[in-house]
Amino acid sequence: GPSREEVIALRTQYVSPGVITYYKDPLMIVEGKMQYVWDEKGSRYLDAFAGIVTVSVGHCHPQIIEKVQAQTGKLQHTTTIYLHPTIAQFAEKLAAKMPEGLSRTYFTNSGSEANEIAILSAREHTGNTDVIALRNCYHGGTATTMGLTAHGTWKFKTNPALNVLHTHAGYCYRCPYGLSYPSCDLRCAHDVKDVIQYQTSGEVACFIGEPIQGVGGAVTPPKEFFQVVYDIVRQHGGLCIADEVQGGFGRTGEHYWSHQNWGVVPDGITMAKGIGNGAPLGAFTTTPDISQVMKNRIHFNTYGGNPISMTQGLATLEVIDEQGIQENARVIGGHLKERLLGLQEKHALIGEVRGMGLMLGVELVRNRQTKEPANTEAASVMERMKEHGVLIGKGGLHGNTLRIKPPMCLTKDDADYLVDTLDICLDKLKS
Ligand code: PMP
Repeated sequence: GPSREEVIALRTQYVSPGVITYYKDPLMIVEGKMQYVWDEKGSRYLDAFAGIVTVSVGHCHPQIIEKVQAQTGKLQHTTTIYLHPTIAQFAEKLAAKMPEGLSRTYFTNSGSEANEIAILSAREHTGNTDVIALRNCYHGGTATTMGLTAHGTWKFKTNPALNVLHTHAGYCYRCPYGLSYPSCDLRCAHDVKDVIQYQTSGEVACFIGEPIQGVGGAVTPPKEFFQVVYDIVRQHGGLCIADEVQGGFGRTGEHYWSHQNWGVVPDGITMAKGIGNGAPLGAFTTTPDISQVMKNRIHFNTYGGNPISMTQGLATLEVIDEQGIQENARVIGGHLKERLLGLQEKHALIGEVRGMGLMLGVELVRNRQTKEPANTEAASVMERMKEHGVLIGKGGLHGNTLRIKPPMCLTKDDADYLVDTLDICLDKLKS
């Protein structure tokens, strides 16, 4: 194949500059197996970011590859204007994993499109327009979802956010009121009432939120936060949508869906990434009643529900069910978090360790009192970890939260290697 330098030259000349890479010296990945990937020189890396939280059960998982290869050889493509078994089988499987009441799925190719369909459905169903999202959130790169995304730098000024309002995210580490939980009485959650009363017509289409934020930096609200927000939104006529693109499919360990950690039942769930272990696949599942808004409408998605993605999605969910994946996320994630909390005692740079299961974040700060974001430090920790063969991500509004979300087949040895490497890299920052 072409050398790294050739690939860089071709990308620079022919690929949109909107496509960016991590690392000063971009990494070229040519092979993957389970939780590891290899570069063109044969060096192995622990992929503790799973692409971007997408390879849920492992790169080139043999059970998935076998089924997808068989399907590719049999029927690679047809659209939903014809019947084929895979879409029906996968939709049935998804419904079996859903909280009670949610059973009808619309398939897309991405998380952004899934969120588009969710918002369209909520607006049509309620007859209202305004959508409430959380500060720090990321929901996608299409026009509507870019508007939802609460990272200013990721918006285009020619693509204004229309009818989207942001409420506080339950980000206790940086409480906007300087309060602490639980004596705060969940003031930030109750705030959504003011957002609705002062900034909307008084009625809303929906609230959409990630139960634990991904790109936002593993922001994990107090346990009652979502209950309070869901109640208020419903009192104002809105539906509640859980974006499970990153947190779903067992990643948070205790529960299959991250919203279950908060004891709420959403009116619809959007999914992508981990649902297909890398297949271009997204989905919105809702109640039979809400799903009726799409009935007799002409709304078409050429690749949505295609046989290859459906086969890969079904095989992925089977692996999660059959191979103890969620339990592994709980146990190994718990071990990882405990060890990261141990590191926090040693390194003043670690302001907070948060998240659940294998959806963890480590927020770096220059000063524990002022909480000044240590963003350049986070970038150099990532660079150094790559040199030690460990790939992680970063996020948060200031880019100062390290994100650890590996394939859920991670072993205890991998987890220990990751933490030992982080320890060494944080030590080196001091010198
Ligand atoms: N929702 C969340 C929570 C995400 O993290 C992402 C992608 N980072 C999306 C939606 C958008 O998904 P996609 O890139 O597949 O459109």
